[in-house]
Amino acid sequence: MADYDVIVIGAGPAGYPAAIRCAQLGMKTAICDDFKNKDGKPSLGGTCLNVGCIPSKALLDSSKHFEHASHTYAAHGISTGPVEINVGTMIGRKDKIVGQLTGGIKQLLKGAGVDTFAAHGKLLADKQVELTPLDGSETRTISGDSIILAVGSVPIEIPNVAFDGQYIVDNAGALDLDKVPESLGVIGAGVIGLELGSVWRRLGSEVVLLEALPDFLGACDRDIARAAQREFKKQGLDIRLNARVKSAEVKGEEVQVTYEVDDTEHVVPFDRLLVAVGRRARTEGCVDDAAGVTLDDRGRIEVDEHCQTAASGVYAIGDAVRGPMLAHKGTEEGIAVAERIAGQASHVNLDVVPWVIYTEPEIAWVGINEQEAKERNIPIRTGSFPFAATGRALAMGETAGLVKMIAHAETDELLGVHIVGAQASELIAEAVVTMEFHGSSEDLARIVHAHPTMSEAVHEAALHLDGRAIHRAN
Ligand code: NAD
Repeated sequence: MADYDVIVIGAGPAGYPAAIRCAQLGMKTAICDDFKNKDGKPSLGGTCLNVGCIPSKALLDSSKHFEHASHTYAAHGISTGPVEINVGTMIGRKDKIVGQLTGGIKQLLKGAGVDTFAAHGKLLADKQVELTPLDGSETRTISGDSIILAVGSVPIEIPNVAFDGQYIVDNAGALDLDKVPESLGVIGAGVIGLELGSVWRRLGSEVVLLEALPDFLGACDRDIARAAQREFKKQGLDIRLNARVKSAEVKGEEVQVTYEVDDTEHVVPFDRLLVAVGRRARTEGCVDDAAGVTLDDRGRIEVDEHCQTAASGVYAIGDAVRGPMLAHKGTEEGIAVAERIAGQASHVNLDVVPWVIYTEPEIAWVGINEQEAKERNIPIRTGSFPFAATGRALAMGETAGLVKMIAHAETDELLGVHIVGAQASELIAEAVVTMEFHGSSEDLARIVHAHPTMSEAVHEAALHLDGRAIHRAN
């Protein structure tokens, strides 16, 4: 008989909800995690809580207050005098929030009756898991009837640009700079580059983003990407497209970055360099060959639509498998797998997963964009509405951006909603719910939206799609 009904390897936003749900369903559950925080202490919650989603949001919020106090309060008649930032206090606040949340997970697991091991877990053959404790105590092996691999992802390194933890950093390093660098180079104008680049720009750094691709935010709808790019340019974010980084070298107190645009080589010095060119599944040392789990050509654990791996009784979820590397996608997979192990029907709809980039303005979308509809020959109708035409956005002084809506030309089913603007992260939820219920643009057009709110732009975009918007020309 196995020691546990289920063993979860990895306590990030995919693994810990899976463990809690397993325990709720009456299964004897264990979870292990090997993350150590900067004090060398075990800390649950994975990348998201420790060095990802949550700490970056804390710094985005602090830097947003700083920027508004410096630049926009005056228009409200508020005078502040010179505004200063104490980076140590800001980082301390961020660390406190992380500590609160990661400590909370420990309590939640305990409350649910899950056995938690601060240990590196490695899946061996026959659903045995080797645990190597972080405190140096003896390695032991436990067995489970089912295993859930939630091992997450690590930053990708590029050739000739090695992380040194001081001058050349990844997301974790960029969340812990001890002062505002005069200049910050960022390789990759993706989600992390834009969010952390925004933090340090707001605090006073000259930020240059070097992006290899010719299009800005290639995964976004073009209208949204263009509107966002305009706003970022106004803010002073220097985004250089088509820029292929060849190397980066620390020389004295700075990093010299060599990159090429259209065969012309450029060399730029920066105080600090953030490398944010994507992440890859973290599988090394987590799965023994004998376990029977297979990897795809991108090194991700191969799974079917129910997160079942090639090894019977072994599941994999979150960043380590196909699909978007988003915390909420991993969470839903974890819960669905727990329910399937318990014999229930459960499924995650990967077609309706919202994306959010927490810049100012925020960017959020769900479903397909106009380019994808064209590539897939899907007949569509589109509608849009600018926030500048809503009273609430004007009152808030947050008029940048728009809502764009895409519906099937024949059935009117809602296929995609794309937003750039204040509160886009919250507004997108309405689109997600509508799409999950296979709603139409007409449904959104006929639903009462509170006035004055930013959500009126969603309502008007739905009306515009049918040529009957009230507050803009059709
Ligand atoms: P990303 O895929 O969002 O962006 C990486 C960018 O780097 C791409 O635009 C790519 O073209 C560019 N790039 C790749 N190689 C390059 C090179 N050699 N030179 C210049 N540019 C290069 O990846 P990320 O920003 O590192 O984020 C990693 C993952 O973390 C993403 O999958 C993202 O989903 C997730 N994440 C999500 C959020 C969020 O949901 N708000 C926040 C942070 C991270």
